[in-house]
Amino acid sequence: MDRSWMNSNRLSIDYKEGVNKFIQFAFENLPNNNGRFYCPCMKCFNIPKLHFELIKSHLICHGVNQSYTKWIWHGESVTDPIASNTN
Ligand SMILES: [Zn+2]
Repeated sequence: MDRSWMNSNRLSIDYKEGVNKFIQFAFENLPNNNGRFYCPCMKCFNIPKLHFELIKSHLICHGVNQSYTKWIWHGESVTDPIASNTN
């Protein structure tokens, strides 16, 4: 998953595509979401659950929280699959 968009200019195409991919990621990894996810924008910090359309506009208006590099609130596992060699 490419996350370079998180450091891109909020007005860039890369950023907007990244936002769309992020929402898609959440939909794929969080079943039974009702279209609502934690908002990872600079104002919400993953505290409220918002409708995905609202999250998109938040991410473009406020920017994404750049320290949120592991998307644990959006279905990504906490353990790094590369680091853990036990399977
Ligand atoms: Zn927000």
